[in-house]
Amino acid sequence: MSSLKGKIITVVGSGLIGRSWAMVFLSGGYMVKIYDNKPGQASGAITEIRKQIEELQQANMLRGNLTAAEQLSLLSSHDDLQQALEGAFFVQECVFEDLEAKQTVFHEVENLVTESVILSSSTSCLMPSNMFSRVQNRTRCIISHPVNPPYYVRLVELVPHPETLPAVMDVAYSLMTDVGQAPVRLRKEIDGFALNRVQYAIIAESWRLVQDGVISVKDIDLVMSEGLGMRYAFIGPIETMHLNAPEGMVDYLQRYSQGMKRVLNTFGPVPDFSGEPAARIIKEICELIPAEQEHLTARRERRDQLLMG
Ligand code: NAD
Repeated sequence: MSSLKGKIITVVGSGLIGRSWAMVFLSGGYMVKIYDNKPGQASGAITEIRKQIEELQQANMLRGNLTAAEQLSLLSSHDDLQQALEGAFFVQECVFEDLEAKQTVFHEVENLVTESVILSSSTSCLMPSNMFSRVQNRTRCIISHPVNPPYYVRLVELVPHPETLPAVMDVAYSLMTDVGQAPVRLRKEIDGFALNRVQYAIIAESWRLVQDGVISVKDIDLVMSEGLGMRYAFIGPIETMHLNAPEGMVDYLQRYSQGMKRVLNTFGPVPDFSGEPAARIIKEICELIPAEQEHLTARRERRDQLLMG
């Protein structure tokens, strides 16, 4: 993997995720070229990244072994896609979550790069087989789905197109590990990948419990932040099962599987997320955290601080 050090990664799309990915790759010593099709957006992203990297250094929270100045010297912005792609071995696409826009971007990118360049998308929930349908050589296509913001949350889901070569998964895995992320491999594509399938299951049941008047918004959030979340920050649900019975998983299943099935069978249908229940839940959460930008920004900053430990 050291052979990739100092190589060029092109980030296409310089919004929230593009900027954070750029910072992750810079922290690993990669040269990062940012492109955005909105004129001036990529150079604006550089200003924002510079500010963040310098603040992180001051707070002793900068990732990687390089100084802020060293990392920033590896960064450039481009308004021209061809120029941005020159020399890249890996392209991380971060444009709007819009299938047609992404298909067009990958079509354009493929026409400007050589066969060996890996085409990677940040999509949250578009399927690789749809996303890469306009790419001729889909063996080098992959989804590298981050958690927002990737600079602070290390997980990245690697999701293959049905034609993706194992070697491409391996390079993406090594790259992500090298820059300090925590990659996981999905063996095949599935709607929602792994993270959002689990997240949506949690959201759905939390929503149903509040909607049905069982618990308040404040308290269901505490169930996660002071309970399940504490545990799941360190070990996952399967290991938790294995550890939560004296003799391990077999013992756990003997003790608890009937109860789990009984409870799971009481779960309601997929919530509608609209109407009176939604209005009530919006009111409750906005009483806790007002929806004005200043409150949301302060809360996000607090979240990022907590994530950085
Ligand atoms: P964003 O709206 O902040 O940024 C999108 C950027 O893409 C904008 O700067 C826009 O000008 C640029 N853009 C649009 N079309 C373009 C094109 N054709 N070529 C180049 N640039 C173009 O969006 P975001 O939140 O950064 O999301 C980017 C991707 O990351 C989406 O696919 C999203 O699903 C995924 N993602 C987002 C999150 C999140 O929580 N925000 C988490 C994980 C993954």
